[in-house]
Amino acid sequence: DELLEPPQFTSVSRAEQKSDNNLSCRLATKFSNALKSGEIDVYFQPKINLETNEITGLEALARWQLAGVFVPPEHFIALAENYNLIGQLTNQIVEKSLSHFARFITFNRQLGLSINLSSVELCQQDLPDFLFEKVTVYGLSPHMITLEITETVLLEKNSVSLEILARFRLMGFQLSIDDFGSGYSSVNMLQNGPFTELKIDKVFIQSMHSTDKSKIIVQSIVDLAKKLELKIVAEGIETRQDLQEVIKAGCKYGQGYFFSKPINATHVTTCLLNWEDNNPNNRAHKKATS
Ligand code: C2E
Ligand code: MG
Ligand code: MG
Ligand code: MG
Repeated sequence: DELLEPPQFTSVSRAEQKSDNNLSCRLATKFSNALKSGEIDVYFQPKINLETNEITGLEALARWQLAGVFVPPEHFIALAENYNLIGQLTNQIVEKSLSHFARFITFNRQLGLSINLSSVELCQQDLPDFLFEKVTVYGLSPHMITLEITETVLLEKNSVSLEILARFRLMGFQLSIDDFGSGYSSVNMLQNGPFTELKIDKVFIQSMHSTDKSKIIVQSIVDLAKKLELKIVAEGIETRQDLQEVIKAGCKYGQGYFFSKPINATHVTTCLLNWEDNNPNNRAHKKATS
């Protein structure tokens, strides 16, 4: 196989860079081949309305198995970003998740689909038209689709990315600021981007039960988001205690292992059909009231 061009790292020594590059080149080449052969899979994680206990959406998450082992997305997303493969990845995730989603909504008409985009793609001028066309081909409406943006590089104010975000909004797509509070996903993004949803990073959610500081931070983010009329999603709810804390703070939507891990398309169908009985929160509720 032909090896791909290495990215230029700035913060490592030359020797380290050379061996790092060798390794990441080989991995990037494997990833590129996996893309070409359609091996990248999509899983879905339910998003729950915490007031009604219903599934309101599904988040598409890319999965790559190398020699039978799942490679962590954080790893291959960074690789895809560095090696200019992120566009190809997005194309495949969009294609696969929409085709599954078109079937999922026949079980639940209220369902939405969330797709993750990397901020490095937001200079891709043809991205809005591409997504709009795909959504139309599957007989869906952009209103059903939320684009989750994680900032992995600092976005410049007035850069082309804001124009692309605005075009997405005009088409009717929902826009979510992902991992809010961590990395570069910041107040600056909120100030300048036309977002409709805010997802609070799981680090804050998971430390709410142990530190008052996290409670105060989450409470403040929720208040801020409410004033800006954004939907609020708490990510990383793992325990009943986490759930109680986020409800107390006023989060209306949540995601996390407590409700469901990301699951493959076959499991989504089962999950949608049996949600009322299988939702851990309903189960506990039924036990307490019967
Ligand atoms: P994200 O968009 O913030 O997605 C949430 C991540 O948290 C997912 O990790 C999910 O599996 C994990 N998660 C959900 N609930 C819990 C929980 O209760 N506890 C814990 N510890 N983790 C939980 P995953 O699938 O490993 O993805 C990591 C990141 O990779 C995503 O973070 C997203 O930024 C990126 N990513 C994944 N798929 C794609 C994709 O198709 N395109 C792009 N651009 N990025 C993607
Ligand atoms: Mg996300
Ligand atoms: Mg997130
Ligand atoms: Mg994340």
